[in-house]
Amino acid sequence: MNSCLPQVLTGASFTTYRIGGPLDEAYQPSTKIELLKVLSDARAKDKAITVLGWGGNSLIASAGIRGVTIITRKLDWVLPLTDTRIVFGAGVHLAKSASEALKHSLRGGEFMIGIPGTIGGAVRMNAGALGQEMADLVRSVDLYNLTTGEIETWLPEQLGFSYRKSAIQPDSHIVLSAELEFQHGEASQIAAMMTQSVQFRKAHHPKEPNGGSVFKNPAQDMPVGRLMEELGAKGNWHEGGAMVSPLHGNFIVNVHQATSTDVLKLMLRMKQAIQSHYGLEAHPENLFLGDATAEEQQLWATLTAGASH
Ligand SMILES: Cc1cc2nc3c(=O)[nH]c(=O)nc-3n(C[C@H](O)[C@H](O)[C@H](O)COP(=O)(O)OP(=O)(O)OC[C@H]3O[C@@H](n4cnc5c(N)ncnc54)[C@H](O)[C@@H]3O)c2cc1C
Repeated sequence: MNSCLPQVLTGASFTTYRIGGPLDEAYQPSTKIELLKVLSDARAKDKAITVLGWGGNSLIASAGIRGVTIITRKLDWVLPLTDTRIVFGAGVHLAKSASEALKHSLRGGEFMIGIPGTIGGAVRMNAGALGQEMADLVRSVDLYNLTTGEIETWLPEQLGFSYRKSAIQPDSHIVLSAELEFQHGEASQIAAMMTQSVQFRKAHHPKEPNGGSVFKNPAQDMPVGRLMEELGAKGNWHEGGAMVSPLHGNFIVNVHQATSTDVLKLMLRMKQAIQSHYGLEAHPENLFLGDATAEEQQLWATLTAGASH
């Protein structure tokens, strides 16, 4: 099958939550030329464009996504530039990026090993762990401007990185590739840090489908996981097929064919409990994409009030 022909796919197949209805017109380009063709055709016909990487931070509406959905996973090329700089296509999985750095005995990217995501999604989210984040590594990003159809190169000062946030708005700019810079290191130490990270995740992250941390921590010493534990939510709070994970209080798990509405309702319960018990505002880290029902629009508006993505 030509991966660049429109395909009938569902969001559930392309998110770690395993939630999401039909994608009306989905494309999985495997070259930059294919991607640019899909983008320019969609622009010419004034179609809505949604971009999806690994779906590791995305809740897709059970009603699906209208218009064009571009899944970047096949844009997974890697180009070593200098002895410390490597350029990654938008769809490169973070584990592959980490392994590539290890191959060259480069440190600074160990955190990427266990995060289910692509370079494009991780740059957009400023993903991080182990005290490291994308902002430490990114030297430049090539983006497609959906308004002008031009390719732009953004430098760190334009990328506006902060906690799980960047200036990239996927409804106006799509990451094509990113140049990352690492430091020379000791391969055995880099590998040991990665192994430790993977083992920690195996022990502390749920096995059921999930979208990682649902909320950003409202304060450094007030992690949502601990607050949910104190409130007795872990393994006890349910909404339809969604449940607060018994293993990690900031993870919602899809235990029984959860819908996007189930997840949003459970998120609202968590947010309101954090507000009323601790007087803190928890803002979603998860993003909600697709064709929301009126109820879901209302839930998402309440969840994101006062937050900027
Ligand atoms: C078990 C688990 C553990 C996790 N652990 C961590 C962790 O430790 N640290 C952390 O930061 N996150 C973590 N996450 C969340 C998630 O993996 C990261 O946010 C990751 O960077 C998301 O990348 P993605 O490609 O999956 O993005 P997606 O979910 O596909 O997309 C996220 C957002 O980025 C946009 N986007 C995707 N690709 C592009 C592109 N090419 N150009 C422009 N916009 C784009 C999408 O439209 C969407 O708005 C975890 C998730 C899970 C399920």
